[in-house]
Amino acid sequence: MARKNDADEVEVVRQILRSVGLRSTPARIAVLTLLRKASKPRTHAELSEQLVPMGFDKATVFRNLSDLADAELIVRTELGDHVWRFEIRDPNHDRSSHPHFVCVDCGTVACLVDVSVPDDRVRRTNKIARITEVLVKGHCLSCEPAGV
Ligand SMILES: [Zn+2]
Ligand SMILES: [Zn+2]
Repeated sequence: MARKNDADEVEVVRQILRSVGLRSTPARIAVLTLLRKASKPRTHAELSEQLVPMGFDKATVFRNLSDLADAELIVRTELGDHVWRFEIRDPNHDRSSHPHFVCVDCGTVACLVDVSVPDDRVRRTNKIARITEVLVKGHCLSCEPAGV
C-alpha cells in the first residue's frame, strides 16, 4: 500500500515538472517530494540533511531548488537572516492580495487575509511599480507564547 502511494506521488511530481517544461531528474523529484510533504518552509541545510544520505550532494540540491524557484513551482523567502527558505507555491494562493506573517524563529508563514496591501496612492508616492508580497515579521505563538 505504501509503495503504491509512493509511486503515485512520483507520477504527480513528474506531471508537475512536465507542466513547466522541466525534465524529471531524480534530484528534482526528490526535492519537490520533500517540499510537498513539508508542513512549513525548509532551508537548504534542512533539505540537504535529508537528501545527502539519499545520494544527492548539497550543490545539486541548491541548483535544483533554484531551478524549481525559477520555474515558479516553489517560492523562496528570506527573513532577514540571509537564509533562504523554500516552500511549494500554491497556484490558487495569490500572495500579492494580502500580507503574510512570517515567524523569524521557525519560518512558519500565515496569511493575514483581513489586512489589505498598500493602496495605489502608497505605491505612486513611493515610486513602486508592483508589490509582489507584503511580509510582516515577528515571533509566532509556539516560539514565543503570549504573556512571556
Ligand atoms: Zn515560530
Ligand atoms: Zn496568503
